[in-house]
Amino acid sequence: MFRPLILIVEDELPMLRVLRVALKTQGYDVQEAVSAREGLERLVARRPNLILLDLGLPDLDGTELTSQIREQCEVPIIVISARSEERHQIQALDAGANDYVTKPFREGELLARVRASLRHAARGPSASDVYRIGALSIDALQHRVLLGESEVNLTPTEFKLLSILVREAGRVVTHQQLLREVWGPAQVEEVQYLRVYMKQLRQKLETDPAQPTLLITTPGVGYGLKAPD
Ligand code: CA
Repeated sequence: MFRPLILIVEDELPMLRVLRVALKTQGYDVQEAVSAREGLERLVARRPNLILLDLGLPDLDGTELTSQIREQCEVPIIVISARSEERHQIQALDAGANDYVTKPFREGELLARVRASLRHAARGPSASDVYRIGALSIDALQHRVLLGESEVNLTPTEFKLLSILVREAGRVVTHQQLLREVWGPAQVEEVQYLRVYMKQLRQKLETDPAQPTLLITTPGVGYGLKAPD
């Protein structure tokens, strides 16, 4: 039977023990790292199916580690942190984390999020060709967006959001669907994330961000990308 491998990156040993016991009891294989450097080594050596990541690590901030991991692969990352401020939450999500759990957490809640992230990842990447509309071209596989001849720099989260809209071009994608796919099932109520990120995308992609013609809002329902002509 396939046993998902979960990498825990956490420098507090009592917390590490709690996580290890909880995950092993559920039948997961577990690898451990007590620093960012060790975490990156284990990531390369073992290719885990999911990473549980503490933000306060001795050698590198967990948000920075998330960015470094995202340069290598799309493994699901659940950030675990004592920092409860929304600012840190958005930073970690923006760096490419899939979900966020604040210490102290209930074990059942953490395990539910682990299961949800593994299920989400198992659905696989949505490969597609280059999408072109007007001066805009989006290559989902190469992670490149061009506006005319110039490259548009998107954050990992902006890119993820845009690639879903590309995949569903011409359709309205609901708030819940976007939130579930970009941020994970635990975040489906966080419609304000979408407002912030759609505004950023419009500023980067629309000729007049105040009068969008590509990224269309359907009030109360969701967002859509105009279909190619
Ligand atoms: Ca720590």
